[in-house]
Amino acid sequence: MLRGLRRLNRYERRILNILKLGGKYTRINQFGFSRKTSDGFRFPIHSLEIGTEKAIKSNPVGFVAGVHGLETVGIRILLDFLEYILDKNSEGFLPEIKKGKLGIVALPILNPGGVALKSRSNPAGVDLMRNSGVDAEDPLPFFGGHRISPKLPYYRGNGMEPESRALYRFVHKYFYDVNHSIIPVIDLHSGFGTIDHVWWPFAKSKNPCFDTPIYEKMAYYLRTVKGHDRFKYGAQSETYTTHGDLWDRFYDHYVDQIINTTKNWTARFLPITLEVGTWSDLKQNPEKLFRKRGIFNPGKENKIETITGYREFLRDFALLSLTKLNQWTQ
Ligand SMILES: [Zn+2]
Repeated sequence: MLRGLRRLNRYERRILNILKLGGKYTRINQFGFSRKTSDGFRFPIHSLEIGTEKAIKSNPVGFVAGVHGLETVGIRILLDFLEYILDKNSEGFLPEIKKGKLGIVALPILNPGGVALKSRSNPAGVDLMRNSGVDAEDPLPFFGGHRISPKLPYYRGNGMEPESRALYRFVHKYFYDVNHSIIPVIDLHSGFGTIDHVWWPFAKSKNPCFDTPIYEKMAYYLRTVKGHDRFKYGAQSETYTTHGDLWDRFYDHYVDQIINTTKNWTARFLPITLEVGTWSDLKQNPEKLFRKRGIFNPGKENKIETITGYREFLRDFALLSLTKLNQWTQ
């Protein structure tokens, strides 16, 4: 039944290789286990710390992938990126890591059970990006999350799944206590459509989130100054509204419990979602529509180009953590 097990093993070997590549600047942790599959397997959820311990505490950048088990493009983009910035012989090598200026924390496969089962949802049939318990205003019917049955896609579940709680512990541990810092966090997905979206909160509502002015300035900077103009930037709700987005919950929690209750708080936890559009090659491969994985993953011939095409964007995104809040609020 575990048709994706070999793929999962391949990614885990690459994670261990990244650990080697980073040498003494890299550590691996475990944030719990996936839900059990019907065959009784559960999979550990691993994270990486890359950088000095001081930089991880004071200037972290977050990278998350593999929330949806079918969206392996996101996992591969992240693993490729980490190799790109850690390899001394690569043009993308980030000296700021060894200098202790920034620390990277990565959770490359949040849903290893979904990867192993080749399913979008976790082994209990829950769509983790519908699982936070947050209710949306006017969500898309069905696709926006439902509680009808775990046998149907986009099922919200009852209570937070082990994978969702692992992500919460990860976010809480690395980002909530950091002051005087910009904390960029990116979650890599792939999906419908021909263009790449960069989404900020909210997914639940068309109301602007607290940090909308900062997100808009960062979007302008990435698009115009850094030239990443093939992305469409905006709140996720401009595309569609869904129940249960995990980042909505974590972001609201941060604003309510930290920004609003602490005097002179000059840090910002700024989660974004990168949704890689994978329909662009459908014209060449129309039969893809009928393959289960087809609409979530680009065709093989375009894969290398797709995977490496995000390196510069992710690098520039990570370097936002070297900026300070007042640079974005003036
Ligand atoms: Zn996704």
